[in-house]
Amino acid sequence: MNLLQPVYCLFGKHHRSRGRAWGDGSVYRSWCKGCGKPMIRDLHGWHLDLQPPGEKKP
Ligand SMILES: [Zn+2]
Repeated sequence: MNLLQPVYCLFGKHHRSRGRAWGDGSVYRSWCKGCGKPMIRDLHGWHLDLQPPGEKKP
């Protein structure tokens, strides 16, 4: 456990939890190990997934 990670989160430097990512078709999803928010990986790398799962529109 990294006790400093929540501090990094305050500055927008989120880090996904290793080993907990899973593929979702064309993208990978995981959680931030500091604040537990959902993250998504796309062409720009890992960042917070601002669109909650289950509410995506086709
Ligand atoms: Zn975070």
